[in-house]
Amino acid sequence: MKEADKKTYIRFLNLCSDFSRDGYRSTEIIIEDEDAPLPLLYLVNENDDEENLDKLSLEISHCISCPLCKSRNLSVCGEGALNPLVMVIGEGPGADEDRSGRPFVGRSGQLLDKMLSSVGLSREKNCYIANIVKCRPPGNRNPLQEEIEACMPYLKRQIKLLEPSLILCAGRIAANNLIGTNSSLDNLRGSFHEINLDDSNFPVLSTFHPSAILRDESLKRPAWEDLKLLRSRLEEMGHALALL
Ligand code: URA
Repeated sequence: MKEADKKTYIRFLNLCSDFSRDGYRSTEIIIEDEDAPLPLLYLVNENDDEENLDKLSLEISHCISCPLCKSRNLSVCGEGALNPLVMVIGEGPGADEDRSGRPFVGRSGQLLDKMLSSVGLSREKNCYIANIVKCRPPGNRNPLQEEIEACMPYLKRQIKLLEPSLILCAGRIAANNLIGTNSSLDNLRGSFHEINLDDSNFPVLSTFHPSAILRDESLKRPAWEDLKLLRSRLEEMGHALALL
């Protein structure tokens, strides 16, 4: 390396470490010396240590807390409205979600969107959609307990960031793991449970997973009853839902 290049490089590294020491997590340092030996670019996010969804999503994309990281294509943090009326929590990404990095985009996602829109909810306007585990369990098997435990802190951080008015769990696995029970879906459905995170309470309703409804049409009617219960609780809370 030429002497001048070395100097540029050292100046760049010094600048990076100054910025890091000063708490910058997201700035851009570009040294524009014409003869810089390398593209010298240091890029992260903003000068704050505050939690936000983008940072959480980035952290999840690098997560190696459980073996699902080895087989994932993309992690799926979640998507939807911020400060949503409803946060929907499913089980985990399937093949379509693993490919796209978005939750509930396959057949069960299309049904979920229809179910939500029947009571005036949508991921574009007033819902956020996430999962218990953020990486696809191979072959769409159920997530293992250790995978769920490794991922649960992310979900809890998401809930605290989003502060949804209500949580809707899709399926027994999501419901039991979020509420901390080991019950049948029949026992969990029909009333709200509360979860407490750092002194904030969140009401949780459980319903069938859309893929269970796709397998068994007779679940449509009871799922509709669950959605009506969700809607009336939102109305009691002062949120009138316009049908979309
Ligand atoms: N099933 C889930 O539980 N979550 C998804 O994101 C997709 C399918």
